[in-house]
Amino acid sequence: MTQLDIQNLVANYPLVDRLIKLEPTCWFNFNITSLAEGLPYVGLDQTNIADASERLTRFAPYLALAFPETAATNGIIESAVVEIPAMKKALQQRYDVTIAGQLLLKKDSHLPISGSIKARGGIYEVLTHAEKLAIEQGLLSKEEDYSKLFSDQFKQFFSQYSIAVGSTGNLGLSIGIMSAKLGFNVSVHMSADAREWKKQKLRANGVNVVEYEQDYGVAVEQGRKAAESDPKCFFIDDENSKTLFLGYSVAGQRLKHQFNEMGIKVDREHPLFVYLPCGVGGGPGGVAFGLKMAFGDHVHCIFAEPTHSPCMLLGVYTGLHDNIAVQDLGIDNLTAADGLAVGRASGFVGRAMERLLDGFYTLSDQEMYHLLALLDKTEDIQLEPSALAGMMGPIVVSQHSDYLNRMHFTDQQLQKATHLVWATGGGMVPQAEMAKYLSATVD
Ligand SMILES: *Cc1c(COP(=O)(O)O)cnc(C)c1O
Repeated sequence: MTQLDIQNLVANYPLVDRLIKLEPTCWFNFNITSLAEGLPYVGLDQTNIADASERLTRFAPYLALAFPETAATNGIIESAVVEIPAMKKALQQRYDVTIAGQLLLKKDSHLPISGSIKARGGIYEVLTHAEKLAIEQGLLSKEEDYSKLFSDQFKQFFSQYSIAVGSTGNLGLSIGIMSAKLGFNVSVHMSADAREWKKQKLRANGVNVVEYEQDYGVAVEQGRKAAESDPKCFFIDDENSKTLFLGYSVAGQRLKHQFNEMGIKVDREHPLFVYLPCGVGGGPGGVAFGLKMAFGDHVHCIFAEPTHSPCMLLGVYTGLHDNIAVQDLGIDNLTAADGLAVGRASGFVGRAMERLLDGFYTLSDQEMYHLLALLDKTEDIQLEPSALAGMMGPIVVSQHSDYLNRMHFTDQQLQKATHLVWATGGGMVPQAEMAKYLSATVD
């Protein structure tokens, strides 16, 4: 983009100026519609989510065997929801704001197998591919017990095929570990942001790690190229995959069950606000889609990004989607939130979900570090920096009476609201690494 193009963009979209200056920014979506109006643009529906859910149920006996840590949940990969009242108190004090309603944390950070939200979409897409290959070759039928996949015969079968993916870290972990366990040859193309321990863990699991000195976009492009030359190689496309998206979406119905068990209501009188850290968009987009399908118009999804990587806010706000990258504006895409270090958002997710998302905001790395330390101190829960992006959400919403008024929330409804912060990763961060995160905070 030329300087003139940027000036024109700023003239039409004034918040772009704040993004360029790396100032924390929030934008509440004026184009939001009801689920009924917005759903046709997604191009997916409840039958697709049910299909994904059934596929995960078919694979559950296999997962329970292959990953004993999932045996307790019978091979279903799901995380706990916990109340964090001490953190709520600390947040209110730190930001001098009242958060009406209760504050909960969704601990995808502690999902089994790979310790991040990517254990939903990433693993699901590998399983989908494996099932397709095995069924095509007449080795498996959907009615069978899938624990038969945990065998040398199947490992040998899958070893004829390969899988490739580009990642900032966590998607690579999920896809690498799952693919290698099934027997695939798997290559993970890692961007410069990827943490060393994640690469080591992958190598220890027999995964081929290819390192790049550039960012996520380059790692994905190179991964795609490497896969193109090999007809037996399947490239998992984080930027456009509907399969990944559907793997994430299953979370909606699951959360509804958890809320039922906990006695938490979601309806007109009890609105639900959900805060989701966003990188390329597949994870938060898929989860938000599932939440909308489960809770309808009473769930309000808000995406959180680092000030240095505000790709989804930029894409949706300007309507340019994947036709613009933060680097086009001179924003460097360098952030400690490695899971969110993405310069160009998924065009598929932005276009599919732009009518169903209430808002977007950015926060600084320093703020994420503060929140990381605060959660550690108040609740003894340890997360990676990316996973704290959503923690600012209840503050941002509580401070924006313009948004709350436009949406016609009454005080009474807000008192009965639930704020759910989606903790997207950190359960597998080594202790020494976590100590570094904790000491990075200056108060
Ligand atoms: C990948 C990731 C996200 C965001 O998911 P996207 O699909 O990239 O938007 C958020 N948090 C963590 C910890 C992640 O690894």
